[in-house]
Amino acid sequence: MISRTMQQQVNSSSIIRAMFEEGKRLSALYGADNVYDFSLGNPNVEPPAEVKQAIMDILNEENSTTVHGYMNNSGFEDVRGAIAASLNQRFATGFAADNILMTVGAAGGLNVIFKTLLNPEDEVLTFAPFFGEYRNYVQNYQGQLIVVSPNTKDFQPNLEELKEKISPRTKAVLINSPNNPTGVVYSAETIAALVDILRAKQEEYGTVIYLIGDEPYRELAYDQVEVPYLTKYYENTIVGYSYSKSLSLPGERIGYLVIPREAADYENLIAAANIANRILGFVNAPSLFQRVIAKCLDAQVNLDSYNRNRELLYNALVSYGYQCIKPEGAFYLFIKTPLENDLEFCTLAKSKNILIVPGTSFACPGYARIAYCVAYETIERALPGFEALINEVSWASA
Ligand code: PLP
Repeated sequence: MISRTMQQQVNSSSIIRAMFEEGKRLSALYGADNVYDFSLGNPNVEPPAEVKQAIMDILNEENSTTVHGYMNNSGFEDVRGAIAASLNQRFATGFAADNILMTVGAAGGLNVIFKTLLNPEDEVLTFAPFFGEYRNYVQNYQGQLIVVSPNTKDFQPNLEELKEKISPRTKAVLINSPNNPTGVVYSAETIAALVDILRAKQEEYGTVIYLIGDEPYRELAYDQVEVPYLTKYYENTIVGYSYSKSLSLPGERIGYLVIPREAADYENLIAAANIANRILGFVNAPSLFQRVIAKCLDAQVNLDSYNRNRELLYNALVSYGYQCIKPEGAFYLFIKTPLENDLEFCTLAKSKNILIVPGTSFACPGYARIAYCVAYETIERALPGFEALINEVSWASA
């Protein structure tokens, strides 16, 4: 028999994954061209050419026992040094190799940091709407995820409610910008106001509250919008980064944590995060891909392709009468569902072979997420369905 906690997981397994499976089923029935699957954040843009070249160069030129061998739990020192130098150049920070811990993607990094920080019942605050896996990652270490309700005006975090919800048990505040599912980038003013609150609350309770930035979409920002670099605002910051989206490498499971020297209890944090990486069973991040990304630090995926999709989808949906914020980053659009019940709306959309994810799975009912990391033609073909959907709903309620 499986454990009670895993039984619960099996029962409530991810709705996004379920949609993905549904997409495959519908494709088999109606043909892939007639199914519009906007359910999963799986990049459809090729990794940059530098990635393939780097893989071949490494395999041809480097010592294969090093490339494929064990290493420090934190990762190759030269790779971590190269990442630190690249961050310093881009953001005028002062990191060294010791501040970087290579991880198994953003998911691995978040699990390492929660294992490092959380005692049972410790609280992690996050802002709705949020990536649903956060709940699992916090529960893995018996923490409590406390959700600050969404600010549906502009989807910047609701700071008034944050103030009320921080307690002496608050160990960390977790933010994700550019955001999944809204595509919103948290502004410099928002971050400055947020960290003022954290400082005041640390003072009031005599505690340390870490700010954790989950940043797999940092590089996917449009129209030159600035994505503030969090360690410059607040000393007790930990940044989780991933190459899943920025280099289109989600299956390769590669990312890193930044733990700055200024962070409270720095020496212990680093030591514990290293051990967590090992004892969670990751041991170390994939070695070939550590070496690959060190050669691709300036490489970028073709953002124009996502941007074209964003413009097409946003302009069309708004012209049909949908309400949504124009996303500034990531590859998601978050619409207010024309039916109040987002689950019903997504089921209706499915009847037109359009697969989108209800806002409820991001703790934001009444909305739905459209992942536009798909072929441009898929969006073109899906648009008549989106138009018919909103028209049907408004006739029904007229
Ligand atoms: N955080 C957010 C907000 C995400 O959207 C995702 C993946 O979609 C992850 C973390 C996990 O990313 P990774 O593939 O790097 O583990």
